[in-house]
Amino acid sequence: MRNGEDFWRRIAGQAGILARQGRESPLLTLATDGETYGHHFTFGEMALAYVLAQGASGRDNIRLTNLPAYIAAHPPRREALIREPSSWSCAHGVERWRGDCGCADGGHSGWNQRWRGPLREALNLARGAVKRHFFTAGQECFTNPESALMAYGEVLAAPQKAGAFAAAHFTDNCAARDKAWKLLDMQEQSLASFASCAWFFDDIARIEPENAMTFALRSLDIMRETGGGDVLEAFAEELQNARPNQKEYESGKDVFTAEVLPRRDDPAALCLMAWLLLNAENRSPAPGAPSSYVWPGVSVELIADSDRADGRQQGAAVIRATHEPVGSRYFWRIAPPSQVRDPGKAFVAMNEAAMTVRPENAPESRAITRKVSELSRPMSEMLLSCCLESREKLMNPELQAMAAHAASLIRPWREERHDILRPEFWVGIMPYMAVEYIMRDTLCESRRARLEAILSMRLSGEAKALAATLARRHMLDALENPGPGRDDESLAAWVRRARRIMPDMDWWAAQNSLWELGRERYPALAEELGFA
Ligand SMILES: [Zn+2]
Repeated sequence: MRNGEDFWRRIAGQAGILARQGRESPLLTLATDGETYGHHFTFGEMALAYVLAQGASGRDNIRLTNLPAYIAAHPPRREALIREPSSWSCAHGVERWRGDCGCADGGHSGWNQRWRGPLREALNLARGAVKRHFFTAGQECFTNPESALMAYGEVLAAPQKAGAFAAAHFTDNCAARDKAWKLLDMQEQSLASFASCAWFFDDIARIEPENAMTFALRSLDIMRETGGGDVLEAFAEELQNARPNQKEYESGKDVFTAEVLPRRDDPAALCLMAWLLLNAENRSPAPGAPSSYVWPGVSVELIADSDRADGRQQGAAVIRATHEPVGSRYFWRIAPPSQVRDPGKAFVAMNEAAMTVRPENAPESRAITRKVSELSRPMSEMLLSCCLESREKLMNPELQAMAAHAASLIRPWREERHDILRPEFWVGIMPYMAVEYIMRDTLCESRRARLEAILSMRLSGEAKALAATLARRHMLDALENPGPGRDDESLAAWVRRARRIMPDMDWWAAQNSLWELGRERYPALAEELGFA
């Protein structure tokens, strides 16, 4: 993975051996996990891209193909049976994925994997219910539920194809459009619950099985939302048969209750997160000014009623999953403790916030309330990091201006006066000093040299990470919005300077953006970013 040319030569070597055997159109197949390229091996995707380019150019008399194309060109002449069920990973075949075969990863030699069977039983039960519901409820939504399901992968791979997909597979019943998308989402969630990592490691009380249960929970929630039955209790009962190795849990059901149920993204949790995140970004909904928060897969629009005397805020909410034309409407209210504590600073007592939500026309008895303190660990961690990031964006202009001011006061370097006075006061602006160094084209060279010396001494790990984030943000913005000082040569100079203080900065996002724009528009930058 470190060298595309070596990778290609190994393939070409194997292909050469096949060719010398003298068979007609010999086929060499390669199968690897997608995660190999980039995840397990950083920049492995570049080696793969190189290899594909060699294949596409027909180098070494090798032609690039895939199995369907090869079979179309060389129809099968014999029939074979696949031994079923069979699987990869260990010598015990499919037992790796359902039995206590003895093979596991995670580092606890004394642990057993007898929980694998019950986990699979529970997920099979959920999938069975979801599947039956899809084909029953799907009658009014799809011209043919099965072909819609089979073709849905096209939309997952290319969301812009959603319109054409809907035209081809949905019935004329417009009222069932949202439901159609929900049913497909339900199937997607159910499929995701079978990712193999849930059984690969050595305990059910780990993030991988918890993720599998979370996907299953989501599929069951959508099933109930779209008029299906409720099998959650039966699902949890199956998990009761799983014994975790970690002693703080009696059973898989305990793991589900303690770790998975709080992750539920019900309407109240979504509205609570949206309200807090909008608040953190200074985009709180106001009467007459609705505000939306968008995640991958779902958006929440909050519409606020006029302000109430008791300081409580309430209004309507529309929660819409991707592609849904209408979405579901709710009534929400948020309790007073979440109000601004100090109007001058606009912080919110977040941990006390409680959001109550009910379907718009449902009685109060159906309302559910979620508090920040009850959100799952991943949700509250995400909330915290989003709030900190928003806070940085709000304060960014002021801090950047401070850094520009400081940079303008820097005197040229002298050996015996190499360090800075009172470095503790520089801590907060160090990342912004790095941005000045990288992006301020008008900085004179002697100042820039001194700044470089300061940064090389004083830019700590986290400050460097923030500087890289800011530099990336500027670069992406410059590529998206060209203007003065953002020409090809200037941007190439940004990269060169960034490399001097942060040699390991990750340019992946800028490389991708440049690839989309067309590297011929920025030849100098393209060369700097490795598009030689
Ligand atoms: Zn095994």
